[in-house]
Amino acid sequence: MDIYRNINELRSSVNAWKKQNLRIGFVPTMGFLHTGHLALIDAIKPKCDKLIVSIFVNPKQFGPGEDIERYPRNFERDQQSIEAHHADAIFYPAVEEMYPDDYYTYVQVEELGAVLCGRSRPTHFRGVTTVVTKLFMATKCDIAVFGQKDYQQALIIQQMIKDLNFDIEVMICPTLREEDGLAMSSRNSYLSEEERQRAVCLYRALKRAEDLYANGEKHAALLREEMKNEVLTVPEIRIDYLEVVDALTLQSIDIIERKTLLAGAIWLGKARLIDNIVIDVEPIDA
Ligand code: AMP
Repeated sequence: MDIYRNINELRSSVNAWKKQNLRIGFVPTMGFLHTGHLALIDAIKPKCDKLIVSIFVNPKQFGPGEDIERYPRNFERDQQSIEAHHADAIFYPAVEEMYPDDYYTYVQVEELGAVLCGRSRPTHFRGVTTVVTKLFMATKCDIAVFGQKDYQQALIIQQMIKDLNFDIEVMICPTLREEDGLAMSSRNSYLSEEERQRAVCLYRALKRAEDLYANGEKHAALLREEMKNEVLTVPEIRIDYLEVVDALTLQSIDIIERKTLLAGAIWLGKARLIDNIVIDVEPIDA
């Protein structure tokens, strides 16, 4: 497995693969890999001939005060995991390689990036779409995979691909969870043991709303209230949002009639945790 630290070196391998008509798959990550990341690698592997995994903690998606320095890293361990899952290459650029001093260009998807996580992290998705565009250009990938755990991110990237006519197929993989239901996340490493026990309340709240819907409740306001009550039973949690939105537009809804996203973000100690559940509404027979 090759490790590339600069774009030109990666590109020369990629160009050679392209000449052989090989299909390139791509898994973007910020490293500190867990089973959720590895599931993305396993899912895309059969769909491509060459597989590139990137590890880059992207400063453009961290806001002021979000403390990028603290983000967990362990390149050696990541390298071993990626190799064990049979990727062909790791792209592991330094910040200066991606953003030299004279870097000025940004890619921004409007509307979808302004709600949910975009409210409390106003420059976050612009950072994500900018880096993903650069990574798409560097890897020349034919197919890329993202996790449903970051539903809004995946939706925004799909919108960007459509709007900018990128010829890239996207796969979305389900959220991998710990045994108690907590969504796996590199940020879970910020949690103390006690916080770790409490953290599952976000998933419990989403599940509660999903169960209420399954039992016939269609009023979004009631589901929001119930999610809030569930989370507020747990001490020292701060709610960023607990929302019921249209799964395609991410706009708040009153009544659940179409595919719906239950989504939440909470603060617990030093960690901001997000999670979501999609409600697929059965079409009503005519
Ligand atoms: P990150 O390293 O957090 O930027 O995540 C890299 C990719 O892994 C993104 O597409 C995430 O949505 C995905 N991912 C993160 N956590 C999970 C999880 N628990 N299950 C599935 N995919 C995940």
